[in-house]
Amino acid sequence: MITHKNTSLFFVFLLLSLVLVNLFIVINWLWLIVIVLIWLGINAFGSARISSNYHVKAFCNNPLEREKKIAITFDDGPSVFTLEILELLKKHNVKATFFCIGKNIEAHPEILKQIIAEGHSVGNHSYNHSPFFDFYNAKKIKTEIQKTDELLEKFTSKKINFFRPPYGVTTPSIRRALKQTGHKVIGWNIRSLDGGTKNQKLIFNRIIKRVSPGGIVLLHDTASHSVLVLEQFLQFLQQNNYEVISVEELLNLNAYEI
Ligand SMILES: [Zn+2]
Repeated sequence: MITHKNTSLFFVFLLLSLVLVNLFIVINWLWLIVIVLIWLGINAFGSARISSNYHVKAFCNNPLEREKKIAITFDDGPSVFTLEILELLKKHNVKATFFCIGKNIEAHPEILKQIIAEGHSVGNHSYNHSPFFDFYNAKKIKTEIQKTDELLEKFTSKKINFFRPPYGVTTPSIRRALKQTGHKVIGWNIRSLDGGTKNQKLIFNRIIKRVSPGGIVLLHDTASHSVLVLEQFLQFLQQNNYEVISVEELLNLNAYEI
């Protein structure tokens, strides 16, 4: 398996070998630069792609699921748009998982309460969702996770098991922090990119092209266009005989520690 540890060991070995060979044959040092660039490239790819399992094992779908079953997740709430999302989910009798940001829970505690009261699951999505989260050290990441867990647990009364890293980016520091907190990382394999564009049609077409049994969809409960996409998407799933189940059921994992 290509992980951060294996890759690092391989490249350190390669570079040491080059230095040794250089004692006997003169090597063009451009090779050294090429090797380091490839190494950095692999690291960047592994960090940016949550499903690569490069730094952290992430559950992004259930590849063994043969039936038309998928799970829907929402990131970055709670927000005022969460209420419209909840309304739609209720109408279609669908249960979802909400990955909440700590500071947004502080702003909308009553919405978080409603999410849980209506039978949905919640997970941790950091406290600040800072664009610099990937540069935080393990201690700071652990503090972010614990602070948000405390806020969530006031409502769930059970220990939170699921964590989704901001932007889906993973780093060695995130791996170290998670080793201490013990959270399971939940990713996705159907990314709507609804945070990048407001073009409903584009987002909708992007999702339905990627829908397959065992998939996990990523949406955001932070904008009105995402609500409209969800409405269309739920209709599409119904028409195509897809059943929406919870992440817990799809992955056979518990959102909370019992
Ligand atoms: Zn996010």
